[in-house]
Amino acid sequence: MFKTVLVLGHIHGIRLQVHISWLVIFALLMVTLTTTLQHHHPEWALITSLLTALFTALLFFASILAHEMGHSIVAIRRGVPVKSITLFIFGGMAQLGRDSDNPEDEFRIAIAGPLVSLALAVGFFLLSVLSNPFSEALSVAFGWLGAINLIVAVFNLIPGFPLDGGRVFRAAVWRFTGDARKGVRAAVMGGRVVAYGLFALGIWNGLFFGNLIGGLWIILIAWFLLFLAEGHGKHYDLRERLAGITAGDLAEHHVPSVDARTPVSEWISQRVVPEARRAYMITGGGDVLGLLTLSDIKHLPRERWDHTPVSQFMTPIDRLHHVAPESDPEEVLGIMTEHGLNQLPVVDEDRVTGWIDRQRLLQAIEIHLATQPTSRPSNRAPSA
Ligand SMILES: [Zn+2]
Repeated sequence: MFKTVLVLGHIHGIRLQVHISWLVIFALLMVTLTTTLQHHHPEWALITSLLTALFTALLFFASILAHEMGHSIVAIRRGVPVKSITLFIFGGMAQLGRDSDNPEDEFRIAIAGPLVSLALAVGFFLLSVLSNPFSEALSVAFGWLGAINLIVAVFNLIPGFPLDGGRVFRAAVWRFTGDARKGVRAAVMGGRVVAYGLFALGIWNGLFFGNLIGGLWIILIAWFLLFLAEGHGKHYDLRERLAGITAGDLAEHHVPSVDARTPVSEWISQRVVPEARRAYMITGGGDVLGLLTLSDIKHLPRERWDHTPVSQFMTPIDRLHHVAPESDPEEVLGIMTEHGLNQLPVVDEDRVTGWIDRQRLLQAIEIHLATQPTSRPSNRAPSA
């Protein structure tokens, strides 16, 4: 399968990874920095410009990582687990294991990143001044890093999702109204305003300054921000409405199973077709041995169906992804999506107690949402 992230390693259990889109930014940054340096310092040798650009780009990379580590360390201290940090085309993203349960934590986690960037900006500006008498190239690099970290800090403080300022804004509204949902709505609205503002800026740039490429870039970023802001809003909404529902609630407790020695032909004709199911647990001696789905036997020629036991093509139990009964629906959907699975067993202390298939999960979620009391204030903004 085509992988879109490269895993760099782990720090304190946090997976560090780079999305391939970041490599494009890295290359663009190298080209832009080198040509700009050549332009401003024609007396420099090409190798000096290249090395300065490389040094700057690598420290920029480290700065974004430090920003995300800032969020992550505060999150971990506040008891919110951090799964991974991903660097992608527009910066970085720390993926938290769950949402903060109070506005104070939310505020501290959100503000930590921009504060790190701000501290880095000050540090780099200082280094730029201090290194000036010794090396012009170093001083130029530090000066650029100071400026870019300042921009990262300020841009991220804009009060709209998905930016850090959006989370700060959300925390503030949450704190003053005591209503987490009002906070989310305010931050989504802030995100929309930012995105539409950028759309306008992009069009302005293209039409009035003839800067088509620059304008298109801004529009692309605006579209991306809008998409993420709406996504954030829907995500919080779904998460909140599903709060308290577990994998155990959504699972089907009758686990369809078939004996390991059953020939594939019999399994198909006596179970799959009449029961209209695609997946079965394979059992032997009272234990669950694995899972077999129709797709597993897709390449098995029909003439071999009579002589092949179902156990031959199953996924053995120890290689099977599974969830605990207390897992939340979001985690279940996350595992299914990450591994491209359609069914997931629910395992309670080594015992398969039920299973969830994707279709059923989505149906169950829909039913849970539809049957929820609608008495709660539901003045959601109409979606654009
Ligand atoms: Zn941040």
